[in-house]
Amino acid sequence: MAEILKGSPVAAKLTEELTERCNALKAKGIIPSLAMLRAGEKPGDIAYENGASKRCEKIGIAVKKIILPENETSDRIAPCILEINEDDSIHGCLIFRPLNDKNAERSACEMLLPEKDVDCMTDLSLAGVFTGSGTGYPPCTAQACIELLDHYGIDVEGKNIVIIGRSLVIGRPVAMLLMSRNATVTICHSRTRNLPSICRKADILIAAIGRAKFVSADFVSEGQVVIDVGINTDGEGKLCGDVDYDNVEPLVGAITPVPGGVGAVTTAVLAKHVIESAERV
Ligand code: NAP
Repeated sequence: MAEILKGSPVAAKLTEELTERCNALKAKGIIPSLAMLRAGEKPGDIAYENGASKRCEKIGIAVKKIILPENETSDRIAPCILEINEDDSIHGCLIFRPLNDKNAERSACEMLLPEKDVDCMTDLSLAGVFTGSGTGYPPCTAQACIELLDHYGIDVEGKNIVIIGRSLVIGRPVAMLLMSRNATVTICHSRTRNLPSICRKADILIAAIGRAKFVSADFVSEGQVVIDVGINTDGEGKLCGDVDYDNVEPLVGAITPVPGGVGAVTTAVLAKHVIESAERV
């Protein structure tokens, strides 16, 4: 039976450490603060906003919610971002994406200061992840994969890691983070040939595809660590990952569940980035 790599102990440990760091900042008169900017009422955005608010509250981070009408972002988003940039009391900003208005989204992401970009929305932050310069912060979900591996003592140095997915939110940045820790990384995507055979050779397999239960028993081998980033719904409307958990879990060494795996760590990473930003002031 595989070791189940649950996210909740990882999030709990991070929350404990961050609460201490937050208290130390408050003792110096600094109240770490996060601005969350949402356009419209998408249930997924609201659910994440509630989860992030709860996590911040637990740690002691102040939250400012900015809610815009769904289709009125073009003229209204720029002043909001400028205000956030200029407000010294705000240390991090999260914009819920995608916005319906792509131009508004692009200009918001171009405008936000990388030092307040706690979820890697700006090109400068992304460049920071790729160059290792320390500018900005990695995307929270990519960093959550690293926190999970660290928490369970899974050393990546010299390991053969296969990632399925090459998005700028997960696949590519997590590859850079792992490579900076001396892992040997292969990134696969929809045009990759012989995908199951490449995946079977991995020590660690990371699935970030967005297709329910896509990674079948044919993709895995004995002793592997499987990190499932996917959040999907199956044919019965139940939440599930990119990995066919029931058929893969008995074959591998360790696996993250969905729900309760990587997703459970993401808001703690968001909070960590806000605290780091406040500490850098
Ligand atoms: P995305 O932008 O749609 O990227 C999906 C990637 O999967 C693409 O690179 C795509 O390849 C690849 N892919 C699609 N079909 C494939 C196939 N048949 N074989 C091999 N590769 C295939 O998605 P994303 O934003 O990275 O998100 C991935 C998953 O993570 C989603 O389920 C999303 O809901 C979930 N997610 C979870 C969290 C969390 O907190 N746990 C946060 C964000 C997202 P091409 O590039 O060739 O198209």
